[in-house]
Formats: sequence, structure tokens, C-alpha cells
Amino acid sequence: MNTEKIRQRIENEMIKTEQRIREYEELSAPVAPDDAIGRVSRMDAINNKSVTEAALLKARQKHNALQNSLAKVGKTDFGICISCKQPIPIERILFRPESNHCVKCAR
Ligand SMILES: [Zn+2]
Repeated sequence: MNTEKIRQRIENEMIKTEQRIREYEELSAPVAPDDAIGRVSRMDAINNKSVTEAALLKARQKHNALQNSLAKVGKTDFGICISCKQPIPIERILFRPESNHCVKCAR
């Protein structure tokens, strides 16, 4: 297995995820009070905010998972599905480096 390639793939993905986290953090800034914007657009803003917050949470979880994957690269338990203990195909690792499940167990 090409350890260096996998490491780079994970690092690239972490940088992208960090950028996304920063964008979501800006978007989820506090909603302006009622008198600043109309009530309807305030409701919209609150809805959008919860969507953004959910996306932010997901991005943070992905970042943590990537960090864990990166720490395992080159070790014996890297690329092993934590459910069925079978090796995860390299294509899957490169496509979804944050996952520690094979496709079958991820479903
Ligand atoms: Zn599995």
C-alpha cells in the first residue's frame, strides 16, 4: 500500500475540511434581532442557521475522523474495517479516507 499517497490524500482532505469549517463558522454567526430584519427573513435566517450548524458539526466530525486516520497511516490497524476486521480496498480509502468501515459495514 502506498502510504505516502494515502497520507497526502488525507492531508488534502483535512485542508479542504478546515476551509469548510471556517465558512460554516462565519455563516452560523448569531442571527440579527427582530427589529434589524423582518420577521420572515429572521425565520429564514434561523432555519439556514440550523442547517449550517448541522453541516458545521458534520465537517468537524469529518475533520476528527481524518485526524484519526492520519495518525493510523502506516500502522497495522490502518485500512482495517473496525466492524468486520477485513482490509478496506485502497479505492475506498482514497475515496473516503475518514471512514474506518468497509463499504459493506458502512451501510
Ligand atoms: Zn467491514
